[in-house]
Amino acid sequence: MAIVEESRPRGADEVASEVRAWLQEQWDPDLTLAEWWERLADSGWAVPTWPEEWFGKGLTRDLAAVVAQELRAAGAVGPPAGLGLMLAGPTIVAHGSEEQKARYLRPIVTGQEAWCQLFSEPGAGSDLASLQCRAVKDGEEWVVNGQKVWTSGAQVADLGMLLTRTDVDVPKHRGISYFAIEMDQAGVDVRPLREMTGRALFNEVFLDDARVPDEALIGGLNNGWAAAMTTLANERASLGGGGAGAAGLGVPGQKAGMLARRVGDFVRGGAGGQRALGARGFATMRKAAESEGRTADPHIRQALVELYTMEEISRYTVMRTKAAKAAGRGPGPEANTAKLTMSRMTRLSRDLGLEILGPKGMLHGGDAPMGGILQEMAIFAPAVSIYGGSDEVQKNIIGERVLGLPKEPSDDKTTPFRELRVSR
Ligand SMILES: Cc1cc2nc3c(=O)[nH]c(=O)nc-3n(C[C@H](O)[C@H](O)[C@H](O)COP(=O)(O)OP(=O)(O)OC[C@H]3O[C@@H](n4cnc5c(N)ncnc54)[C@H](O)[C@@H]3O)c2cc1C
Repeated sequence: MAIVEESRPRGADEVASEVRAWLQEQWDPDLTLAEWWERLADSGWAVPTWPEEWFGKGLTRDLAAVVAQELRAAGAVGPPAGLGLMLAGPTIVAHGSEEQKARYLRPIVTGQEAWCQLFSEPGAGSDLASLQCRAVKDGEEWVVNGQKVWTSGAQVADLGMLLTRTDVDVPKHRGISYFAIEMDQAGVDVRPLREMTGRALFNEVFLDDARVPDEALIGGLNNGWAAAMTTLANERASLGGGGAGAAGLGVPGQKAGMLARRVGDFVRGGAGGQRALGARGFATMRKAAESEGRTADPHIRQALVELYTMEEISRYTVMRTKAAKAAGRGPGPEANTAKLTMSRMTRLSRDLGLEILGPKGMLHGGDAPMGGILQEMAIFAPAVSIYGGSDEVQKNIIGERVLGLPKEPSDDKTTPFRELRVSR
């Protein structure tokens, strides 16, 4: 069997030395977060995969990972965290008009505006195209009514990526439009939902005669599904990529209150789920087992080896995907199996971490063993099996598209939305 060596992508050394030289001159922990993000935006290193005319460098994802590595190595804070840069930006780059790119992209990259994702509804999650939220034209505006749920970060967002129904007389995927909606208006009511982590990351968002102008329609009328697919593909890619990350993260937008703070104070920052998921994996578990004196326990050793094996398999799968791409073959089932493996590894890390800690696993907060990070990860763990397409949905995709199993019978693609049976 040929042994595949992990190689750096072509051009990695040149990119690395260019970023390093730039950072040596420009990274200054005494700037404010807003000033640092302005510099990063103007350099093209904030969003290296975006086109050069829109704040990027036109690099591949592999080379963008090299940029992130250099930011981390220099101890520099990365570009704005959150859904603007991760999802809204790439969607607008792909589907937005020139006017929309000029209006929305720079505040995303400089962190001046924060975004949330108004996709999921109480009756539309895995089956997103069943969404009920409606927009009706009124002159040059649209009037929106409906309810969204699970909306991460809506309480600090300036804008929302809104999926809403604009035609009920066509099959469900064909009557959806994608808008950039202003969150600060009378018709938008954001109600935080407290999770078992103790935080309120999520919100319910009620849209009650909310208004959005025609010029905020992204990707064309009733073509929202195509734009939504771009958003979701970017979501999956960033979840599967494992987030190479910089040395620290800041939250964009005025409402988060971080922009005027000293950027150096965000180094090794990161909060909530991001911090918790950083704890998942073999290296942290081995450290925990060592510090708790549990490395001789055969059960713990067994689980550590299982985790290590899964991590190695994942690493080889990523290499296999890259090799297939380099050979000109299209994406296979790797994205779906990678997501499933991530869920399994998270569950295994959760169980192993709590087993290592024993009764201390019940302690929560910064003064708990290992800063409470394993306990935090354990509480956050269920999320990974749900977001970005639940485990069951990934298995359906593998069944249908990889194993060739028959699809569930459905008339969704041919029946007008208004005639579909819905459960409320
Ligand atoms: C941490 C986190 C952050 C999120 N942030 C956002 C956000 O910012 N914006 C946003 O819009 N949404 C967000 N979501 C919502 C997320 O996209 C949905 O939770 C997800 O799509 C699942 O939808 P649902 O919760 O409605 O579950 P449902 O779709 O109702 O599924 C319920 C259960 O049924 C299973 N199931 C559903 N359909 C099938 C099927 N066909 N075959 C087999 N099993 C099936 C599912 O796997 C699941 O176990 C977030 C979720 C999480 C966990």
